Amino acid sequence: MMPGWMGTSSREKIPASAGDEELRMIPRWSMALAIVLFAGMQYVFHGVMPHYKHELLPLRLMMGYAWGSLVASYALLLGYVSRDVKRRGMSPGLWMLVCVVLPGGIGAVVYFMLRQPVLSRCPNCSTTITASYHYCPQCQFQMAPVCGECHRGVKITDVFCTRCGHDLAQDGAPARLRAYSD
Ligand SMILES: [Zn+2]
Ligand SMILES: [Zn+2]
Repeated sequence: MMPGWMGTSSREKIPASAGDEELRMIPRWSMALAIVLFAGMQYVFHGVMPHYKHELLPLRLMMGYAWGSLVASYALLLGYVSRDVKRRGMSPGLWMLVCVVLPGGIGAVVYFMLRQPVLSRCPNCSTTITASYHYCPQCQFQMAPVCGECHRGVKITDVFCTRCGHDLAQDGAPARLRAYSD
């Protein structure tokens, strides 16, 4: 009998909230940079640019706010990318450069299109593995529910394999999952 995802060790690893997890990906320096850049844009729009007598103040406020938000979110994005590259085993220097050099967020778009899957560790032997693996390459630990017949990925609520029609109940999935089918 292989060790598997229904074991107790893997259940604790599920994060409480995916949103919190993603927020923690933004480092302090990029939050500070975002605030500084936002304040800087307000200064540029209200302190540096010349004031005209007949201009509209609300328009100036809005422009300052819009540009401030834009540069601030770019700083947060850079911070996110700087941490995201590491958990995907990609080159941080190269991708930070791509995001900074390509203008208007094109670098970030390229990054999100080309990024590798998140790396994680096997709960059993700590081998570095990607999220797409169904089994650990080193110790055969089962990372995700798969069909016992064709070994393709299945949803844990499935009763039969969508590829080969294998009865997944025969693979010994936990009884609580069977409850969905009744
Ligand atoms: Zn392993
Ligand atoms: Zn199958």
